[in-house]
Amino acid sequence: MRSVFLIGFMASGKSEVSRALASRLNMPCVDLDRVIEEQAGKTIAQIFEEQGERGFRTREREALETLCDGDATVIATGGGTACQPGLLDLMRESGDVVNLATELSTALSRVGTERHSRPLLMRPPAEIEALYRSRAPIYRRASINVSTEGKRPDDVAAEIGFALENRYGESGTRGCVVALRERSYPVHTENGCLGELSAVLAMRLPKVKRIGLITDDNVDAIYGTNVKSSLEAAGYEVVIASVAPGEASKTIAVYAHLVDAMIEGGLDRSSAIVALGGGVVGDLGGFVAASLYRGIPVVQVPTTLLAMTDSSIGGKTGINSKLGKNLIGAFWQPSFVWSDPKTLATLPRRERQAAFGELVKYALLDGALWNAVESLAPSIAAESLEVDDALGDLVRACANMKAAIVSADERESGLRATLNLGHTVGHAIELSAGYGNVLHGEAVALGLLATCRVSHRLGLCDSDLESRVAAILDAAGLDTNLETWLRPDVLNQIGVDKKRTGTRVRFIALVGPGDVRLHDMELTELMRLLLPN
Ligand code: ADP
Ligand code: ZN
Repeated sequence: MRSVFLIGFMASGKSEVSRALASRLNMPCVDLDRVIEEQAGKTIAQIFEEQGERGFRTREREALETLCDGDATVIATGGGTACQPGLLDLMRESGDVVNLATELSTALSRVGTERHSRPLLMRPPAEIEALYRSRAPIYRRASINVSTEGKRPDDVAAEIGFALENRYGESGTRGCVVALRERSYPVHTENGCLGELSAVLAMRLPKVKRIGLITDDNVDAIYGTNVKSSLEAAGYEVVIASVAPGEASKTIAVYAHLVDAMIEGGLDRSSAIVALGGGVVGDLGGFVAASLYRGIPVVQVPTTLLAMTDSSIGGKTGINSKLGKNLIGAFWQPSFVWSDPKTLATLPRRERQAAFGELVKYALLDGALWNAVESLAPSIAAESLEVDDALGDLVRACANMKAAIVSADERESGLRATLNLGHTVGHAIELSAGYGNVLHGEAVALGLLATCRVSHRLGLCDSDLESRVAAILDAAGLDTNLETWLRPDVLNQIGVDKKRTGTRVRFIALVGPGDVRLHDMELTELMRLLLPN
């Protein structure tokens, strides 16, 4: 067992949960603040008073470094610990980092009258809220995220226990966990990991003997033979079924064909599906798995940038009806997600560029990703893509954010909605251009520009945010000409967006990178902000 670090805002329950978790795991536990107090012979409040926050942070860093070198322990950190440069990485290298996600209102009500013992809470409410907003994206970089809303410390500890059991090896630095109690699963992102697929399969799904390998013709031609033969070499019987590439394959007819191919190939209730490909294959393969024999396990092996950072995580599966996209489907969580960014080297440039639109979205949700996304832009535009460590790290960070947001979080529906940043206008553009003409990520890129513009007109952000976003998209070779899309016929499609309730839309507005606000408004108001004349 390795150490477990609990991070999160003040009063998220780190100390109490650490005790519950320690007794569950049969491990010792400590409270970082108490360790600091003992070493200093003073209370935290005294240290703040005498040495200021800087003095406290130095002591905190030293205490944490010592703990990282020691025996496996459950460690409740302070609210600011993970926010100190380098400390989150240090914790992820030495153990598992768990974020106890808690809403600000809940944290404040828990603190109640004890405020005086929490120096950082002795400030005006607006400052506390700003502190909360700036820290939330940092906490989300934990490899395990668990909501504490409405749960007792014991329940939270139980959820962490499930997540720990379902992480992959000791790979806190190479992946994360989607925490969904018994259905928790690891999301692993590592350059070159495709070759280890059969070993992980054997570990995660020890009873499975036969595998239905679902892919598309392009991916099959490049990776199909290798994956199939390495699975066979490991003793699996493999039934491979490949569909034509593209959204047009997400039909009832193709789905029926796949199900029959799996049954004819001899798959039974103890078999599993491996979905090798982009979002289309993930949706189809996932839905086949969700429905075949009332549900068999699926392993998502994404090979596109969009699937690695978005669609393979969260368990959404489905196909299209002739009346609309994704109208038929099921939530079916994978047994694990296995992402090898090396496969991105063969992804067509346009697909890679489109997915970059979603990466910029992630950079706007967590400002700390901005620089990495910005430096990636030129290689996205280049003829061929070299997959290096920096790209692997960025893909992993984005996957981590998606996993954090979809992890058990029933009450925080607002958080989940933030993933729709840029999508309200993006969907309208995608729809009016006709699916396939403008790719999803290309439309989202334009939608992000529209978001900046509307947010500025709402008085929420500076006018230069739009030009900064345009510059980064432009460097990746994406269309940034929003004007040509701001036509009544396009904007009328916003009415078709599923986030709409009546004549109102839930718009995700931007204050700046890392700072988003949900803004409910009339559709007519949104139109007016986009088309002032
Ligand atoms: P998305 O994940 O963006 O939804 P799709 O599943 O539609 O994408 O895949 C996009 C296209 O890229 C398809 O034509 C697919 O065959 C192709 N493709 C997917 N992954 C790779 C890869 N690693 N190398 C080459 N082509 C790929
Ligand atoms: Zn999207």
